[in-house]
This record gives sequence, C-alpha cells and structure tokens, in this order.
Amino acid sequence: MARIVVAGGGAIGASIAYHLALAGAGDVVLAERGTIASGSTGRAMGGIRQQFSTAAEVRLARESIDFFEALGPDLFQQVGYLFLATTEAGLRSLEERQALQAGLGVPVERLDQREVEALASGVFAGDVLGGVVCRQDGVADPPAVTRELVRRLVELGVDVLEGTPEEDVAAEVRVLACGAYSAEAATRYDVELPVRPLVRQLFETTPIRGLSERLPMVLETESGFHFRRYGGSLRVAMHDPEPRWSFEPSVDEAILPERLERLARRFPAAAGAQVSRAWAGLYDMTPDAHPIIGFVGDGVYAACGFSGHGFMQSPAVGRAVAEELLHGHSVLDLSPYRLERFNAGAVFPEEVVL
Ligand SMILES: Cc1cc2nc3c(=O)[nH]c(=O)nc-3n(C[C@H](O)[C@H](O)[C@H](O)COP(=O)(O)OP(=O)(O)OC[C@H]3O[C@@H](n4cnc5c(N)ncnc54)[C@H](O)[C@@H]3O)c2cc1C
Repeated sequence: MARIVVAGGGAIGASIAYHLALAGAGDVVLAERGTIASGSTGRAMGGIRQQFSTAAEVRLARESIDFFEALGPDLFQQVGYLFLATTEAGLRSLEERQALQAGLGVPVERLDQREVEALASGVFAGDVLGGVVCRQDGVADPPAVTRELVRRLVELGVDVLEGTPEEDVAAEVRVLACGAYSAEAATRYDVELPVRPLVRQLFETTPIRGLSERLPMVLETESGFHFRRYGGSLRVAMHDPEPRWSFEPSVDEAILPERLERLARRFPAAAGAQVSRAWAGLYDMTPDAHPIIGFVGDGVYAACGFSGHGFMQSPAVGRAVAEELLHGHSVLDLSPYRLERFNAGAVFPEEVVL
C-alpha cells in the first residue's frame, strides 16, 4: 500500500490519520511542523453543533456526533447548543433553518421564552422572543480531543513526526490538512487553493460563581455573540466589527470592554467579571465557507478550508477521507466539497459562520 503522509497535526489531520490506521492502512505518517494541536485547533471555542443553514455543512456535523458521544463526558459535554432570537426576523431565520435541519434528521427543538429560561440557567431572556436548541450538540476541548486521537493512532502504528514540515517527508499520497497554511502548502505542488486566513479572537472570564454544569452554548442570532462554560469561567466570542484578513492572530484589546458589557446583559452573574485571558486564532476561509476535500493534484489531496467549524466536523471528515483514499469512494458524499466547484463561481451560502 502506498505511503500516505498527512500534513498537519490539528483536528483534521489527526482524524484522517486515525481513521486511515483504523481502516488498516499500513504506512501512515502524521507530519506536523510545530506540535500537535498548535494551530487553530488549539485556539478554538470547542462548540459542536449540527445547526447550520446549508445541507452540506449539516451533514458533516451530523455524521460526527456519534464519534463525539463515544468519547464520553470527560471530552464531550452534551449540554446542547441554544440559539436565541430577539427579533421577529431572527426567529423566522431560526425556524427556516430548523426545518432544513429537521429534514436532515437533526432533532432541533423550538423553545419559547420560558423554556429558554428553564434550559439555560442564569441567562437573561427578558428580550428573547424564542429560540431553538439541539440537545445532541455541546462543547468539547479541541486540543484534548486531538491529543486523545493522536494517542490512539500511535497505538495503531502511525508514525507521528512533530517539528517536521510535511515537505521534508517523502510520500506517495500527501494529504494537506494544514489549516490556514494549506494554500501555502499547496503551492509547493503547483496547486492553487482559495483558502484565506481570517483572524478570530476569544476570551475567558475570571471565575463566575454558581455556573451550571448543564449551561448550553448560548448564541444570540442577531449579533452572533456567544459563550459557553469552561470550568468555572465563561469562554466568549463574537466576530470582529470589521473582518481582519491576516496571518497575524493578534488580540484587539479595544473591543473587550464592550464584550464584557454584552456578557453581563445576557448573563447577569457575569457582571464584574474580567477577562482572564484573551487569544486569537485563524479561520481558514474559502469563498463559500464550505471546506475543500478531495484530490487537487497528482498524489495531492486537500482537506482544508473549514471556515471556522472544522473541529466539530473532523470525525466525519476523517472517516470519509480515509475511505476515499483506501477504497476510492466514501459512504458520505464528498462531491459538494470538491475544489472544482469554484470554477462555477460558488459564493458564500452558509449563513451560520460564527
Ligand atoms: C478562535 C477560533 C474559534 C473556533 N471555534 C470553533 C468551534 O467552536 N467549533 C469548531 O468546530 N471549530 C472552531 N474553530 C475552527 C477550528 O479550530 C478549525 O476548523 C479546526 O481546528 C481546523 O483544524 P485543522 O486541523 O484543519 O487546522 P489546524 O488546527 O490549524 O492544524 C493545521 C496544522 O498544520 C500545521 N502545518 C502547517 N503547515 C505545515 C507544514 N508545511 N508541514 C506540517 N505541518 C504544517 C500547523 O502547524 C497546524 O498545527 C475555531 C477556530 C478559531 C481560530
């Protein structure tokens, strides 16, 4: 069997290498130029949701949930993912998405204001017209999950080379899972990938007393503001006022006071909490916010462009890519994710990029 080198030790590369080994591929190398989970995976929020606005994204997340469930509660807290709406337009868009998601078998429930309050203890819902929740969704710790996969794939015989650029390792088949650096990697093989880095920042608060262990991920539909519990603190995110297209993941401190105020409005127990640490990472954006998965050159396969939601999709992606590489086809239809779609001018249809 050909030697397969998986480039990039983030959630995607680790899942592909793991599923290859699980399926019996004999000669698999995971090459990571830094350390495992040192890219976007190590900076992610850890939200896992099946609630997207396009079927292409719902399917990847839906086919990943069983895997997260099987990891157990230490690695995946299935607390649900709650979208709130404070306007009629927001509520309508949630209901439209709910219909699409339900049609694809995702159990999303519509909640009224009282049900929101009952589900999300501590959340202010005075201005909330309604919401939707999927109780199968939840939160995880992306670097911890990735390290667990690496532990397993090492046991299955995969060679893990940290501190090793993929270009230094000979391969018959090369899988580019280099996150925001995938376009740079592809140019080495004369392939152009439309993947651009977008800076996204997060912060964690100082400890907040009395946080419920069952607090779901909470998201305001109209603003995109969202937060989750992380230990005794909240982890908080929202898109920047202006998109920052850059490889420099710096924190814009100036927007943090407004974020804290927003948090205190939506979660009053957070009043007085401060930022304990803030950090930024890179989304690997494609023009339509769907990933690029498939062969892009002779012996060169791409699995990148996850546009801010690759962690939650990594189990399904890993399984499908392994099947395609080993058997020439996968159970999950990968045709919506091929590079060739951009020849037809695909544009941004996915609305729920957080
Ligand atoms: C702030 C933030 C919040 C996020 N929140 C969520 C969330 O809640 N849920 C979710 O699902 N997703 C989230 N994401 C997105 C998620 O982190 C990514 O989609 C996912 O981690 C992508 O994994 P990856 O393996 O493709 O990329 P990465 O984790 O970036 O891994 C790529 C790896 O490739 C390595 N590499 C680069 N070049 C080379 C080379 N030449 N040779 C060898 N190795 C190389 C890098 O060092 C890196 O470790 C978030 C991202 C950010 C930045």
